[in-house]
Amino acid sequence: MIITLKDGSKMQLEGAMTALEVAKHISEGLARAALVAKADGKFVSMNEVIDGDCTFEVFTFKDEEGRLAYRHTCSHILAQAVKNIYPTVQLAIGPAVKDGFYYDFEFKTPITQADFDKIEAEMKSIIKADMPIVRSTMSRKDAEKLIKKMKQSYKMELLADIPEGEEISFYTQGDFTDLCAGPHLASTGKVKCFKLTSLTGAYWRGNEKNKMLTRIYGTAFDKKSDMDEYLQKLEEAKKRDHNKLGRELGIFMTDENIGQGLPLIMPKGARIIQIMQRFVEDEEQRRGYLLTKTPIMSKNNLFITSGHWDHYKDKMFYIGEEDVDDEILCLRPMTCPFQFTIYKNGLKSYRDLPIRYAETAIEFRKEASGEMHGLTRIRQFTLADGHIVCTPEQLESEFAGAVDLIKFMLKTFDLEGDVTYRFSRWDPKNADKYVGSAADWERSEGAMKTILEDLGIEYTEAWGEAAFYGPKLDVQGTNVHGKEDTLFTVQLDFALAERFDMMYIDENGEKARPLIIHRSSIGCYERTLAMLIEKYNGAFPMWLAPEQVRVLSLTDRTADNAKKVASELTAAGLRAEADVRSEKLGKKIREAQLEKVPYVLVIGDKEAEDGVVAVRHRSEGDLGTMTVAEFIAKAAEEVASKLRK
Ligand SMILES: [Zn+2]
Ligand SMILES: [Zn+2]
Repeated sequence: MIITLKDGSKMQLEGAMTALEVAKHISEGLARAALVAKADGKFVSMNEVIDGDCTFEVFTFKDEEGRLAYRHTCSHILAQAVKNIYPTVQLAIGPAVKDGFYYDFEFKTPITQADFDKIEAEMKSIIKADMPIVRSTMSRKDAEKLIKKMKQSYKMELLADIPEGEEISFYTQGDFTDLCAGPHLASTGKVKCFKLTSLTGAYWRGNEKNKMLTRIYGTAFDKKSDMDEYLQKLEEAKKRDHNKLGRELGIFMTDENIGQGLPLIMPKGARIIQIMQRFVEDEEQRRGYLLTKTPIMSKNNLFITSGHWDHYKDKMFYIGEEDVDDEILCLRPMTCPFQFTIYKNGLKSYRDLPIRYAETAIEFRKEASGEMHGLTRIRQFTLADGHIVCTPEQLESEFAGAVDLIKFMLKTFDLEGDVTYRFSRWDPKNADKYVGSAADWERSEGAMKTILEDLGIEYTEAWGEAAFYGPKLDVQGTNVHGKEDTLFTVQLDFALAERFDMMYIDENGEKARPLIIHRSSIGCYERTLAMLIEKYNGAFPMWLAPEQVRVLSLTDRTADNAKKVASELTAAGLRAEADVRSEKLGKKIREAQLEKVPYVLVIGDKEAEDGVVAVRHRSEGDLGTMTVAEFIAKAAEEVASKLRK
């Protein structure tokens, strides 16, 4: 057979042989490092047989493909170990993820992280046994029979998801078999080192209507030193956890008399959010948005019209009971119906469109108690919400504009490299979950895909993740624990305009239906603040820092000078405080450093006499002395740049 390598060179080999043997013909070294291969673009394990002309590529741990196969194999080893220890466990899914892997289980009795030692020991013995991992394919009927015998109901659902005509494959190691598309390493012994890192709850298929499963996270590397370095970094990252650091820095707090998911944003946090909000509202104004200010509650009539009452009631807070009270008042989960009501106040012509409404909106969602976390999952939040009402011809440019605004915000907050894009589509198999016809969905999703491709945005597709009224683009961020959350959303909507009977008069003087885009520019302020705390490790850039400068007196003799300088800075528009306590300078500097105040100005007798201040930056250290005017100019420049130092 003729094997064509990646560089285009060809190799003539006699007879069929395993992928590993083919790799050996390329080089012994490559074969030793080989984890998985691709023949004619299709993944093959190194123990699978190649028996005809094909293109051939080998992947090692240096390649993304190699790492994924390696870590995914480790997730099977985890599943096998858990199954050995807890024979009644139900297995859900176990993919490789960035830097590691996880597996979702349903345990009869919950386990804790204390059980990791036992599971890790079992995994080690599976690795030591070096069991070959063998792929097999079978018909759907046989697969159903096999899964029934294994008594794995989640696997049965996963099997049903495999489209007709697609190959159904299983991987077997020892007495453990799992439904899986692969690819895998050739044997369990190929895994050199791994570590289980954490345990969280996760809903089956990510849907809170489903059962909460136990997700075990782990990581795996080919070198122990690399893994140690990674675990060290992970520990460092945990110190940045906004739920810990945000409280330590006095940004927010919670109180059990107030309740779960209802954080109190403290003065420093409130200042940061105020600055963000001013920035966002000003930018939106520049981009043609009209500001609205609408109530946080309404009669449920509004949400009956919007469809939320039918589709979303269990996530809403409301006062009053159906069939008992004359009036039910709902705390709003969204702003849309309020802005639509404003739109309908007066007849609109095509000349009025697009209309872009924006609002800094307080909203409420009844998050389940197990789901609430710090500032990221809360019951009351502040959304930079907005809706664009446009003609069908304007849809593409308006969607592109909404995405451009998000990209601008990400750039300003230095978050561009920290997000991924997810295109959330409907689930055609569950059509009754959605409003609108199949044709509507295909049309709008098609338009959106074209726009995303034109904008050059890389994205993943999530089938079944769309809202009931349209497909959406989610901008996803990952917290220090590796948990992904939606930061911003742009959503197309072809349903609500009809429900609210929204109209405009088109060029021909006929009544026409507008289209709607739900969008956010900076998302939920609380959640974005959480992301920023972790990203900046609490060291907010000058323009966002709640306290930008702290003026320290070296001795009591210079206390008045320090206070005077602090008020000069405040008058110049900077956020400055004076620390004139009779404490040692070292202690005062350390405190300012811990609170991550960008600049500390020290005034001793000499500085007071010369009319200067000694300037110290939290990361750059001593910057020498300068006059107050010089410092103000320098600080103002840094604030205007919005750069992070
Ligand atoms: Zn697998
Ligand atoms: Zn909306």
